[in-house]
This record gives sequence, C-alpha cells and structure tokens, in this order.
Amino acid sequence: MGLVEPTPRRGGGRNPLPPPLRLPAYLVLVAALGLGSFALAGFLTPWEAVFNETHLWAILLLAFLAIAGELKPIRLPQVDAEGRTLSISTPFVLALIAVAGVGVAMVVQAIASIADDVLNRREMSKSLFNTSQYAVSVLVGAAIYSLLTQTPFWGVATVVDGSRIGPLLVAGLGMIAANWLIVAGVISISARQPLRAVLGADFRDFLVTNIVLLCVGGIAAIVADDGAVAVALVGAPVVAAHLLLSVSARHAHDATHDSLTGLGNRGQLQRDLARAFDASEASNPSDTVGPSLVLFDLDHFKDINDTLGHPVGDQILRHVARKLEASAPENASVHRLGGDEFAVVYRGGLAGARQMARELLASFDNAVPVGQLELLVRASVGVAVAPEHGRNGETLMKNADIALYHAKLERDRISTYSPDLDVNTVERLQLLADLRTALDTRQLHIAYQPQVDLINHRIVGVEALVRWYHPRLGLVGPDEFIPLAENSGLIFPLTAFVLDTALGQLASWRASGHDLRLAVNLSARHLSDLALPEQITAAAKLHGVPLSALVLEVTETGILSDPVRADVVIRTLRSRGVEISIDDYGTGNASLSYLKRLEIDELKIDRSFVCDIGSDAHDLIIVRSTIELALALGLRVVAEGIEDEATTETLRAMGRVIGQGYYFGYPNSAEEMGARLRADRSIAASGKPAIG
Ligand code: C2E
Ligand code: MG
Ligand code: MG
Repeated sequence: MGLVEPTPRRGGGRNPLPPPLRLPAYLVLVAALGLGSFALAGFLTPWEAVFNETHLWAILLLAFLAIAGELKPIRLPQVDAEGRTLSISTPFVLALIAVAGVGVAMVVQAIASIADDVLNRREMSKSLFNTSQYAVSVLVGAAIYSLLTQTPFWGVATVVDGSRIGPLLVAGLGMIAANWLIVAGVISISARQPLRAVLGADFRDFLVTNIVLLCVGGIAAIVADDGAVAVALVGAPVVAAHLLLSVSARHAHDATHDSLTGLGNRGQLQRDLARAFDASEASNPSDTVGPSLVLFDLDHFKDINDTLGHPVGDQILRHVARKLEASAPENASVHRLGGDEFAVVYRGGLAGARQMARELLASFDNAVPVGQLELLVRASVGVAVAPEHGRNGETLMKNADIALYHAKLERDRISTYSPDLDVNTVERLQLLADLRTALDTRQLHIAYQPQVDLINHRIVGVEALVRWYHPRLGLVGPDEFIPLAENSGLIFPLTAFVLDTALGQLASWRASGHDLRLAVNLSARHLSDLALPEQITAAAKLHGVPLSALVLEVTETGILSDPVRADVVIRTLRSRGVEISIDDYGTGNASLSYLKRLEIDELKIDRSFVCDIGSDAHDLIIVRSTIELALALGLRVVAEGIEDEATTETLRAMGRVIGQGYYFGYPNSAEEMGARLRADRSIAASGKPAIG
C-alpha cells in the first residue's frame, strides 16, 4: 500500500527501552480490528459473484499489479538516513475496491503484505500487525466509497464511470490516511514521540506522491471494464516511474553513503543529528534528553594499514561497520566519518549512550581472522550528550571530538565530554606542538636510574627515563607528554631518540669497563610495529652494543592491546638476544601464566605495591607471592620504588631481587650516573658494601 514505512534496520537490533505497556495493547487492538474485518469480509462478500465477473482477467491483473507493487517498492531518492521505500500497490488495491469489491481488495492486500513480510523475514507479530492495519485501511476506504456512491458495502461494484472517480479518489485518501495514522501510532508509542511529531515528518511529500498514485488507481478502475490489456497500459507509466526513481535513489544513496562500508557518511550524520534534535525537541521541551553522539576511533589502525597493507585495513573497517550496525540498538544510527572514525547517533540520554558504547566495544571482543593472523580490534570512544554538551549538531560534534581525543590518550576507553576537558585540550594541543619542536631542538634529555642487586648492592643496570626541559614550563614529566606522543605518532621519533642516546651512553660506559644492562621503556604502539626488531638491531649495531645488554620494558596493557602482533615482535626481539621486561607489573590484568607463555625475561613489580610493604600487610603478601612465583618461573625480578632501607631488607629476605628506587638513587644525568658507576667500582674493589 502507499505507506511510507521505515525500512527495518539491517541485522535487527534491540531497543534498550522496555516497550511501554501501551504498545502491546495498541498492537492487540489493531490485530483484533484487522482479524474482525477479515471475518466480516469472509462471511459477507458474495464470492460467487466475484468469480462470475466478466472482466475477471482485468481483476486478476489488478491483483497482480497490487502484489508486485508491494513486493517491489520504489526506493525513494531521499537524502535520508533510513532508506525509505514507497510501495505502489495502493492505486491497484483502490481500483479493486471499486471493480471487485472490498472483500477481494482485502484478500489481495493481505496476500501482498504477507508475501512482503515473508520475503523480508519479518517477525510473525509484525506481519500480523501489517496485515491487520492494511485490512482496516481498506475497510475505511471502502466505507467512504460506498457512502459516497450509494453502492452496497459488501457488494461487487463493477463499472466505474466518470461520476464515481471523485468518490473513489476521496476513498483512496481515506485509506491512506487510516494507514498513515495507524502506523504513526505505533511509532509514536514505541519511540515515545508525540503523534503530532511523527505525523508531521515528510507529510507533504507523502501526500503529493500518493495523490499522484491514486489518480493512476482511478484510471485503472475506469478502464478495468475494457479488459486486462487496458489495465496493462495504465500500469506502464507506473513501471516507468519505478525505473526512473530507482536510478535516482541509487545516486542519492551513493552520495550519502560510504562506499567501503555502506554506512552513512559525514553529511548523512549531520542530517541525522539534525533530525534527532528536531524529534527530541518535539517530544517534550521541558525534559528533553539527547540525542547523544558517540564517536569511535580505532586504536592502532594506522599500524594495521602500514604493516599489513590497505586491503587488510579495509577488511577491518568493513568488519567494524558490520559489528557496529548489528549491535547498535534500534534508536541509534551508525555512520563512518572517514578513516577509522565511526559515529553513532543515539536517540537517548547519557546513561543509555554510555551503555550502548560499552556494548558496541564488547562486540569487538572476538578477534578478526585476517589470513593467518587473528587481529583484535580496539577502539576509543568519545561521548557528548544534548542538551548539556551542546544544543545543536555542530557543538555536539565538536565536544564528542574533544571527549574522543581524551579517550585516545589512554586508548581503549570511553570518555564523556566535560567542560574541563576543553581547557585541558587547548593546553595539551599546545604542549603537543611544543613537543615536536622539543624533538628537533635538544630539549629532551635522558636520565638514568640505577638498578641494584639487593644481595651485594652492586649496580647491575640502569633504566633510561626521558626528561623534557620546556623553555617556558620548566621540567615536564614523562607522564604528561608520553601519552601525547603516543597519540600523535611522535612516540616513534621519541623512542628512536631515547634508544640512540641511551645506547650511545651505554657503549661509552661499557668501554670504560662497566658491564651494565640498559632498560628502555616501550609504548604499546611499538609492540604492533613489526619493523621494531630491525630498528633496534640497527641502533645497537651502530653503537657496537650487544643486544643482550638491552632490556625493553613493556606494560601488560601494551601487550594486551594487540596480543597477536606483540607476540611476534617480542619473539623476534628475544630471538636476537634482547630481553623483555614487564613494567609496572600488577597494575594491568595479565596473568602470570600468560606472561610465561609469552616468554619474557623480567618482571618489574610496580612501585605502588613495593613502597608500602612495610605498612600494608596485603601489599606484603602480594609482593612476596609474586616474587616467589616469578622466580619459580625462572624470571628475573625487579622491585620498583624502593625508598628506604627497611623495604630493602624485607625484599632481600624474599629471594634474589633487583632493586630500583630513590633509596638507591634518583634518575640522574649521564655525568652523575657515570660518577656513581666509578664510585661503585672503587667500593667494589675495596670489598665494602655499596650502600648501608
Ligand atoms: P616507569 O618505567 O615505571 O619508570 C619508573 C618511574 O618511577 C620513573 O618516573 C621514576 O622516576 C619513578 N621512580 C623511581 N624510583 C622511585 C621511587 O623510589 N619512588 C617513587 N615514588 N618513584 C620512583 P618517571 O621518570 O616520571 O617516568 C614515569 C613513566 O614514564 C615511566 O614509568 C615510564 O612508563 C614512562 N617513561 C619514562 N621515560 C620513557 C621513555 O623514554 N619512553 C616511554 N615510552 N616511556 C617512558
Ligand atoms: Mg620503566
Ligand atoms: Mg614502572
């Protein structure tokens, strides 16, 4: 029928709001009315008269056109988020009311509707509703026609002449209005929008299109008397219109959708957001919530593209699009903004938006098989909700972007916009710009912190820790600028600088006879970089340092953010002699058995556990059992954050542990560290303990 109905979302989806009780009641009412209409039609239609019709072929052709029009609806070339369709069965059903009677029109409409539901795999309940509401609409149309033409309601009216065209068109309008009202009722109840708002949407276009179609119905009714060929001629222009509109619908779709994923593009997002704002304002101006904008940005996507190639990148993007679409609730629409950024417009408030974001992230939990590899997709999420974070699409977009930017600093998390982030963002962007300059202008330095064997107090290694002397801000800590560097890709030149400087320094100490290990911190992004082993080998070779003197510190979260590639990178590095240490152990969520499988060399127990073992019994138990387990697994153990002698003594009693912390020395310049090493050597030569 001439109903403009929202196309069901591909992949289905769930509505997070429990449907209000009014909805089932409404559906039952419509179904009861529909089934009642069928029962009446079944009993009261003079069926034998229908089959004895002289123009039976014309009726059959009208029935065929009505069913075909329902099954092959016109895709409207609308710039619209939810591709809409217009079924063209209406004019033929209308003609059937006039030339074959209401009973036949109802049966034909029911066949068309059920066939369409079966083809589109709609649920039974939905199909029952559709069929019923069509039946009621046909009944309304027939009632108007019978009233205006004074023909018997259940009878078989045969000939339509010029005088009946007016009543027939009015009947058609009544039929469409009934249909439009019943469907709008469902949308209004389930989307909790006032009926007025639902009815208002696109009504003018809808009316004009349908009046044109109804005219076709009128002509078909008049010529039915002349036989099937005449009806076929009337159908021809409808077919032509169908073909033309299909082409323009395809063009409109291409202009508003992303060709890779089929999702709506940026322009489409803006229109969708604007519509969501309109709908939310129309609903209840006093307590409007939403819409919400949820932005997704894939973590490490650039690495995937760079190392595995663009076809794999495309595959991942299509996978993500499918997952997002399949898992998004019905009151949300998914778009791709370009690159690895996706946006979801959610017609609801903050709690629902965050819940949806969590569920969508969880939908990525299963690894994506790509050839031999299994890649884990992770994303960062920024959320902004109207009206608190913006009263129009543009502001909401800007603020969701800021929230996303903050989420990305830590990766794999959901961040909601707050005005504080704004201030922070400006400062951070400035700092990021400064960091680029810092890399080129020697503002970065390396500090070295000693690592000491607790048994004999000898320095066995140093950890290289980067320092930034900012010309205006003074000393900026790595905790502040490393996340910026990680997010911007500056981490690669930064690590290259640290490695080059520290390996050069190590070469010079080794040349002076200090047999040391050098620990360098790596970021998560390096573990996805399959070129890293080669780069490190080249740097060590340049300075003539054996790879076995290098310990690379990685974090549990770093490994877990892309375990498959981390595994490859770590194995390659270890096969060349580089040692791998798990830094800040205990703050992430990797299990010891996982670490054993990864084949690492060293565990650095996080300082948050170590520094309190003197006062916190739980920390003491955690540290003791971790040391025991790690030693049993054959790993070297480093305890970070040792600040006093008592902690040193407690740890010493736990086994062979390497200590690092202010008690043994602050991170210091290369010169001071050099002096410390010389002193350490002369104390060793004298046979005295180095500290205490
Ligand atoms: P980390 O790798 O766990 O480094 C140890 C941090 O603990 C250092 O902070 C060090 O100064 C601090 N520390 C050492 N002993 C003690 C102690 O006894 N008590 C306390 N309270 N703290 C102690 P820093 O230098 O601020 O570095 C912070 C983090 O920044 C490092 O944690 C590391 O994750 C990161 N980082 C530093 N340099 C680099 C680098 O070159 N590359 C990368 N990717 N990350 C780096
Ligand atoms: Mg470290
Ligand atoms: Mg640490």
